[in-house]
Amino acid sequence: MHAEMSLSGKYRKLLADFQKLESEYEKTKRTLEIREIEVRAILAQAHELANTDVLTFLPNRRKIISTLQEEVIRSNRYDTPLAVSILDIDHFKKVNDTYGHTAGDQVLRSVAARLRTQIRHPDTIGRYGGEEFLIVLPNSELQAAAEQASRLCQQVRTLRIDVNEHIASVTISIGIAQFRVGQETWEELLHRADSALYQAKDKGRDRWVAAE
Ligand code: GH3
Ligand code: MG
Ligand code: MG
Repeated sequence: MHAEMSLSGKYRKLLADFQKLESEYEKTKRTLEIREIEVRAILAQAHELANTDVLTFLPNRRKIISTLQEEVIRSNRYDTPLAVSILDIDHFKKVNDTYGHTAGDQVLRSVAARLRTQIRHPDTIGRYGGEEFLIVLPNSELQAAAEQASRLCQQVRTLRIDVNEHIASVTISIGIAQFRVGQETWEELLHRADSALYQAKDKGRDRWVAAE
């Protein structure tokens, strides 16, 4: 009789221990689930930061080049057209010299914002360098890039930017190139667009030139 009571006592204790463990397990599981959500959110933020230019909030150089690399692969695989444009603000050094570097930053932000409103999916624009931007135009022939370039030159030309109680305005020059599917690398494509940009500068700026 005594042994039986002791057994049921042991059983009750085991059951209580088990229930306690089970509830601790549930609590830890919930904590871990919340932690996982937090870690995912932090990783997403880090990913966003790593790909975004802090001045203009456009995709940064690394991101826009990686977009170009992906599109070159796609173009080669499916034999679809692909074009790029390199944009450079004209005489930007003069903007800094006239209004100061902070005002120069403001001009850069305003130009970037204006360009962004003009670029539609699936085209992507990123900050390629200091006052240079790169546009990747998937599924596009040179003609489409040329029409866009002409519109962008006009859009920036008419932009009026408030800086230090002055109104600043700038122009841009653009070099465009169509990818030679299966024949060149993304670097060669960029090099041709860059050469076209320099021709646009040579010809007097505020214009676009298409690469051969
Ligand atoms: P060009 O028409 O030939 O392009 O003349 P430019 O003066 O624009 O060309 P250059 O390459 O000589 O000068 C570019 C200037 O852009 C120099 C640099 O100080 C300025 N710049 C580059 N990045 C930034 C930036 O983030 N903020 C500001 N304020 N200026 C920048
Ligand atoms: Mg430049
Ligand atoms: Mg420039």
